[in-house]
Amino acid sequence: MYSWLQASLQQLSQRAMTHSLHHALLLKGARGIGKTEFAEQLGQFLLCANKGTNAHTAGTKSDLVPCGHCQSCLLLIAGNHPDLYEISSDKQIGVDAIREAIKKLSGSAQLSGAKVLIIHDAHTMTESSANALLKTLEEPTNNTFLLLLSHQSERLLPTILSRCEKVALPSPTLQGCHDWLSEQGYSNVDDAMLRLYSASPLELIEHLKSPPKVSYNEVVENIGYLSVGTLNAAAVATKWQDEATTIVQWLQVWLVDQLKTGPHNIDALWEMQKACISANEQLRNPGVNKSLVLVNVLQSIAQRP
Ligand SMILES: [Zn+2]
Repeated sequence: MYSWLQASLQQLSQRAMTHSLHHALLLKGARGIGKTEFAEQLGQFLLCANKGTNAHTAGTKSDLVPCGHCQSCLLLIAGNHPDLYEISSDKQIGVDAIREAIKKLSGSAQLSGAKVLIIHDAHTMTESSANALLKTLEEPTNNTFLLLLSHQSERLLPTILSRCEKVALPSPTLQGCHDWLSEQGYSNVDDAMLRLYSASPLELIEHLKSPPKVSYNEVVENIGYLSVGTLNAAAVATKWQDEATTIVQWLQVWLVDQLKTGPHNIDALWEMQKACISANEQLRNPGVNKSLVLVNVLQSIAQRP
């Protein structure tokens, strides 16, 4: 398990051992921290037939991992466990997928152990999907665990949120991310990239494989031109509209750098940071005019006091 998630995994596994684990967990945290691997390992532990049976390791950390050789573990490793269900979708999780999973959970476990349902990107459940899940969340069948994963948990219906125990999974620290990248063979990572994506290390690796088309240094250079009026915001926005999301994120890194210098215009910089957050949200909408979103943010930066 990723080093930044180990403590959380041990805590939950420990509670599973003492039968004090809530049956519905909302595992929330930034995109790209490894929530899928986390849920799958916790699921394997819940299903493992030998958990806690090794007298030599009882009470130690090594007692809190799946044994890896019982029938349940072997089926899981083969990707073929009859009591583990996973739901995921590229866009929306529809009600049929939820109903089908609930039907499976309502029967008895095929291996006479626990049953586990993992719902990836739970925030993409439609309203009717979420409603279909409610009864199971309230009255789960015996020894059944529901693991809901989300990097946008604020989008979940309050009725779902109130029935789950929320587990906030951490991102690594900047240093932690740096160390992990070195172990993965990425030792000379650009400092700006590291700062931009350190909260989402798995996503960072993807960006290192195909770097953004506009670099941080280019953005800083253009901010300079905007400030002195050599370039205007509309021209820059048109040039960069296809990279709008990356540009706004780079602007946020730049704003953090400005804030660190103890500037005179601190309130204005915070307002710009808020404008960037709002721009990020607008850019999630596929129909948005990216150039327009970008021009607003760039203008506020160009005209800063
Ligand atoms: Zn096992």
